[in-house]
Amino acid sequence: MKITDIMKKRMTFSFEVFPPKDHQPMEPLLDTLEHLYGFDPDFISCTYGAGGTNVGRNMEIMKTIKESGKAIPVTHYTCIGNKKENIRKDLEKYLEIGVNHILALRGDFPKGWEETRGDFDYANELVEFIKENFPEFCISIAGNPEKHIQANSFEKDITHLRAKQDAGGEYIVTQLCFNMDNYKRWVEKIRKAGVTLPIVVGVMPVLSRDPIIRMTLTNGCSIPRELAEIIGRYWDNPEDFKKAGKEYTVKLIYDYINTGIDGLHIYTLNKWEDVTDIIVAAGIRKLKEVPGLEEAL
Ligand code: FAD
Repeated sequence: MKITDIMKKRMTFSFEVFPPKDHQPMEPLLDTLEHLYGFDPDFISCTYGAGGTNVGRNMEIMKTIKESGKAIPVTHYTCIGNKKENIRKDLEKYLEIGVNHILALRGDFPKGWEETRGDFDYANELVEFIKENFPEFCISIAGNPEKHIQANSFEKDITHLRAKQDAGGEYIVTQLCFNMDNYKRWVEKIRKAGVTLPIVVGVMPVLSRDPIIRMTLTNGCSIPRELAEIIGRYWDNPEDFKKAGKEYTVKLIYDYINTGIDGLHIYTLNKWEDVTDIIVAAGIRKLKEVPGLEEAL
């Protein structure tokens, strides 16, 4: 079953996880996955280190999810520092382990880099390559409701999004965006520009002060007044910050669902307990389906 087929019938529900660093054990993530399966997600995506760091672990996680039979595994994949021959080999390996969903990305430049130093400069070229050589893949692409930080203009960024659609992208997964007005304006603009793809909205749980400030600012995203107040009010109180942040995240999820999205994708940050609180409070999935939930609450 392709994710895009599910979307034709209903809104999808999914998670993003990231691989542990090479020297760290896999067990905590395996435990996280077991808990996330309890929510019956349609798919679980796993990040991919730009430049190919942690590739082995990404594959291992993809294989684990595939073998569980409990969610469709979606790998992120970047073209930073990547040559066609290597990309070809990696994609063959994904297909061998039964992974045929891919989020095709350029990736963020490692420190000091100003170009990809690989065969492709932009994600649309990677999408085109996958489409031509590996038509088995269902390809998703990244979208930035508040403009990609390196794009010269909002309009140009949308033109580039359109190029990814035209190259073969089948659905969009969005960058974090806390500003609903900006999100709605972006949807209106991309539709006018002929971008017709389904949109899976990525939601970043608000759990601790510094990561939220870092992630919003490094991605050029705005911090709405309500979130700014939470940051200011609970500046020195991580516990209350988390409590208020979770409530804020639940409200954000409602707001997104009310706009009529095609999918809801939670960036879990590998924190299943906090994510569980948010999902249960938002009423998206039933309590009894989640192993270990009662102890967590
Ligand atoms: P592109 O679509 O190539 O765009 C990059 C920039 O170039 C944009 O400013 C765009 O406007 C511009 N551009 C695009 N095409 C052209 C063109 N033809 N000519 C001129 N300019 C152009 N990063 C990771 O390293 N690993 C991950 O696992 C990962 N997962 C992500 C998941 C999601 C849902 C999102 C939204 C982002 C993720 N990222 C990840 C971050 C992503 O790699 C960065 O945002 C990166 O800087 C851009 O990737 P892209 O695929 O959007 O690039």
